[in-house]
Amino acid sequence: MKVEIEKLISHLKSQGFVFQGSEIYGGLANSWDYGPLGAEVKNKLKKLWWDFFVRRNEYNIGLDSSIILNPKVWQASGHLGNFNDPLIDCKKCKSRFRADKLVEEKFADMNVGGWSNEEIEKFIKENAINCPKCDANDFTNIRQFTLMFKTNQGVVEDEASTVYLRPETAQGIFVQYKNSQRALRKKLPFGIGQIGKSFRNEITPGNFIFRTREFEQMELEFFFSPNDSNDWFEYWLDKVKFFLEKIALIDTKNYSIREHEADELAHYAKRTVDIEFEFPFGRGELWGIAHRSDFDLTQHQNHSGQDLTYLDPETNEKYLAHVIEPSVGVERLLLAIFCQSYVEEQLDNGERVVMKLPYKLAPYSVAVMPLQKQQKEKANELYKELLLDFDATFDETGNIGKRYRRQDAIGTPFCVTVDFDTESDRCVTVRNRDTMDQERIEISKLREYLLTKLI
Ligand code: ATP
Repeated sequence: MKVEIEKLISHLKSQGFVFQGSEIYGGLANSWDYGPLGAEVKNKLKKLWWDFFVRRNEYNIGLDSSIILNPKVWQASGHLGNFNDPLIDCKKCKSRFRADKLVEEKFADMNVGGWSNEEIEKFIKENAINCPKCDANDFTNIRQFTLMFKTNQGVVEDEASTVYLRPETAQGIFVQYKNSQRALRKKLPFGIGQIGKSFRNEITPGNFIFRTREFEQMELEFFFSPNDSNDWFEYWLDKVKFFLEKIALIDTKNYSIREHEADELAHYAKRTVDIEFEFPFGRGELWGIAHRSDFDLTQHQNHSGQDLTYLDPETNEKYLAHVIEPSVGVERLLLAIFCQSYVEEQLDNGERVVMKLPYKLAPYSVAVMPLQKQQKEKANELYKELLLDFDATFDETGNIGKRYRRQDAIGTPFCVTVDFDTESDRCVTVRNRDTMDQERIEISKLREYLLTKLI
């Protein structure tokens, strides 16, 4: 069953996962802050990605590049000329929309990626797509609107000091490709991964954390020889699917793979696939995988005048590497995980809300609680011991049933209760979040027990 987005937002707020940005000042449109628990989940998600795509992949290395780069980078990459969205205004109520999204929202199976502005305008007129705000069918022509955030570096605000906030992390990788390859003495094929903030002045941000103007990306640029006969695209598509299914625990029912049609592909792209997730507000892109050929390295080589070719030690040939790029937004993936994890369950004695987060993403792995005040000291001792190995929390307020519900609501996989008998039998009760089953476990075996369950 699909979660209602408003319910999810309110739950995430009340439990300390996601707050409206600048809320005490009335907020700032479409900006969101990650509260104490949201920051935990986000950091854990980034760490899982980094471990899987960077540290524990035999080919890859990582990088942390600047947000503000030399503006020539954006000229070379094409962002200064082409990073635009088609903006259309309703003449009656003055609302602004992304013209491509107006069509795709009305006709869910359409994709207008490769269409010209004139084609989109014509389609909107002929198919009576009305303004979603006032229902009029009276739009302006489409204008291209740049998504780049502009600012100035230094004390003088003039053309020469204009810089941009990066709209993607990928270009930072391309400009440090040669340094990274040389310093680490990497041979092709190899990849460089990066996690970091990106900024896009989106025309229509919204749908909670799905589309915001400030967000984080996890991107991998995988470089390989144009003569390499391996299908690296399939290799990375499989890795992405593995990550989604086995690590983020995304149900295969909830996502689908959309291959871009030839007329939708960017001119330099050989193949592009979008992994789309069934969000409560409709299907949306979650993760993009693109074969970018040698487009970026060619552009940077031409604009910088630097030699970015690779000298193949086996064939003595010089060439520019080709690239496969799997790119995902941290918050979009987080939203998919939140949507899938939020569950309302009817029980004999009422209802519970559980965040069935993957164990590795739960803010706390284990909550320790004394059944009553008398066990507080013992429970606290155990809590401190568990802190050495686990993200543990201590919960002593309210009756035990309430405490279990509270931990369910934030997704804690295990609750450990110290009770009357603990003193004599040296055991505690361990309760499982999902099954609500309780087991009596010896304290001396608790660490081992939890380690095996949480793996
Ligand atoms: P869309 O069509 O939704 O605007 P895109 O095709 O422009 O996305 P890419 O440039 O391929 O997106 O970016 C890679 C990934 O970064 C996307 O798959 C998405 O997960 C994430 N992303 C892109 N734009 C945003 C945004 N405004 N807010 C949050 N995440 C984003």
